Amino acid sequence: MRWDRIIKAVHREVEPILGKGKVASYIPALANVDPKYFALVLTTLDGKSYATGQADIPFSSQSISKVFMLTLALEAWGGRLWKRVGREPSGSSFNSIAQLEYEQGVPRNPFINAGALAVTDAVISKAGERGALDDMLTLVRRASQSDRVRINPDVAQSERQWGHRNTSLAHFMKSFGVIENDVDQVLNTYFCQCALETTATELSRAGIYLANAGKLPHTDEKITRAERATRINALMMTCGHYDMSGDFAFRVGLPGKSGVGGGILCIIPGVGSLCAWSPPLNAAGNSLAGTRALELFARRADINVFKRR
Ligand code: GLN
Repeated sequence: MRWDRIIKAVHREVEPILGKGKVASYIPALANVDPKYFALVLTTLDGKSYATGQADIPFSSQSISKVFMLTLALEAWGGRLWKRVGREPSGSSFNSIAQLEYEQGVPRNPFINAGALAVTDAVISKAGERGALDDMLTLVRRASQSDRVRINPDVAQSERQWGHRNTSLAHFMKSFGVIENDVDQVLNTYFCQCALETTATELSRAGIYLANAGKLPHTDEKITRAERATRINALMMTCGHYDMSGDFAFRVGLPGKSGVGGGILCIIPGVGSLCAWSPPLNAAGNSLAGTRALELFARRADINVFKRR
């Protein structure tokens, strides 16, 4: 099978760089992961998954959860969401506070931490604190077809304990009136969503609606409108890798969203959804070998949204 061959070849090719880069160390749950772990999984629209490596070991999805919360926020608010958060690449690190001061507390995009806090706040306004998290979990479980997907309570607790930067971002935005709800509720939900735990196989399945015009291919259930799925993909392409989003677009040519747990969710519209996982990160906090694996995959499969089909 073609996909199997490509995935296995990519695995062999990245082998020499596994372990290179720096595993996130701000919380023990991330620091203690084996830096040599690697997984690459492709789920195609017919529901088949092609996997290599540690595809069934759960890891912390971290910022990849921002994609699912954004989906819920767009469902709840439609275009009005863009009053609270922008759609421009930030050109700064994922947890930067600087830009907020001169843009009246409105974050540049939904994928930097400040933007994700604004998105979570928007979902809470419609669904309540508990509802926001439950809705995200339900979405990921349904799309991944796995009830094992969970919020890891220890990771959520560590996020809370070491979340000083996120706490300041939220309070700073609240001072501008951009955060609507109680700041502690927003932070609590955000810390829990970062603790979303999935395997690479589950995550590759969870993203499939973004490759399939907003629908789950196995049930035809509509998660979001086709137009919104397209726009989420656009934001993943332009903002999904923080200040290395341009580099990711240049090298991989597909929409992608990274998390500091070393995962990357990558969408191939009309074809499928990929998850790469390798814990050590590059300077911008994106998986080093994961990015390379996706670059090699795109090249070998001859898939790139900027290329003539
Ligand atoms: N939990 C991390 C934070 O809030 C998530 C960041 C990330 O995955 N890039 O800083």
